[in-house]
Amino acid sequence: MTTVSLGFPRLRPSPLIIQQTDRPTSSQLVDRMGRTARDLRISVTEKCSLKCTYCMPEEGLPAIPRQCLLSPTEIGRLVRIATTRLGIREVRFTGGEPLMRADLEDIVAESRSVAPDTDLSITTNAIGLDRRINGLVEAGLNRLNISLDTIDRSAFARLTRRDRLKDVLSGIRAASTTTRHPLKINAVLMQETLDQAPDLLAWALEHGHKLRFIEQMPLDADHTWAKSTMVPAEEVIRVLRERFTLTNPFRTDPAAPAEEWLINGGPYTVGIIAAVTRPFCADCDRTRITAEGTIRTCLFSDDETDLRSLLRSGTDDALIADMWRAAMWNKPAGHGMEQQTFVPPHRSMGAIGG
Ligand code: SAM
Ligand code: SF4
Repeated sequence: MTTVSLGFPRLRPSPLIIQQTDRPTSSQLVDRMGRTARDLRISVTEKCSLKCTYCMPEEGLPAIPRQCLLSPTEIGRLVRIATTRLGIREVRFTGGEPLMRADLEDIVAESRSVAPDTDLSITTNAIGLDRRINGLVEAGLNRLNISLDTIDRSAFARLTRRDRLKDVLSGIRAASTTTRHPLKINAVLMQETLDQAPDLLAWALEHGHKLRFIEQMPLDADHTWAKSTMVPAEEVIRVLRERFTLTNPFRTDPAAPAEEWLINGGPYTVGIIAAVTRPFCADCDRTRITAEGTIRTCLFSDDETDLRSLLRSGTDDALIADMWRAAMWNKPAGHGMEQQTFVPPHRSMGAIGG
């Protein structure tokens, strides 16, 4: 029942996928289009302290039974397989809200012990981060992405359905004094927060954070997304230009989803991720594991492959790695949003892990 209401997808039974004859020959996570996955996103929970309208339903997602969630040891094992056998270079924990897991420090520590040189990060709304940041850094976390869409308290409360901007800002303050890297702040703009984008950018510049705007994708649990009402990247740029000069867009590397624009001639930049209006699927380098332990090769594809049952049935690392390769081989070419026949996936962003 729970998995169905979470939007549980078409699940490939593990033995079937491994029997396919058309198989990748590379040891890495390559697909039929020639893309190689280097970036692993692991969702650790469906729970969240906010209920952003573009992500969660008002009542939150149905709870995943505890025994269905991957444990820190199981997550550590997947990180080991991914980094030692499959060429993954970067691991990010997400959700739902990763800080909702009381054992997030254990997840990070298990992962760090098996992947000492890998970039380990979290994507978080920062609520409660002020109390956890030291423990997370000690456990081995080396980067954070924080989501914040507006610095206007009432707009924040409307958008997230919770009046908790103050808690988010104290989490951000604590993180920025503890970590070495500049914080990355991600913002999804909606029509109602569009005019606040310049204030958010001014705030980010003042505090030394790197801001990126992300186009809203059709991944909300309420299924209210419409192309006609979403804020396209060009609209974000137009509004920012009312206060800043934006020039010389560039990408730091071809797989980077964000186009960086120089602000007022530089050196500071603002990133724009036009996932809907200028898709970058051809350069996608991601693979995902859901909180229940399924491989999800694309945000928009409901085809998933169950690894949890393999982890719990004595399957060795080599076979699990093979399953992962086989799943990635079938990664779809693109999200298909431009097609008339496009239908959003069953799972919403919070149930996949953004
Ligand atoms: N709770 C954490 C947070 O908000 O950072 C991590 C999970 S959240 C699903 C990860 C990212 O997905 C956030 O930056 C959020 O803004 C983004 N997101 C959620 N729904 C989205 C949507 N419909 N379109 C684009 N981005 C979305
Ligand atoms: Fe929670 Fe993040 Fe989704 Fe907002 S975007 S509801 S903070 S999971």
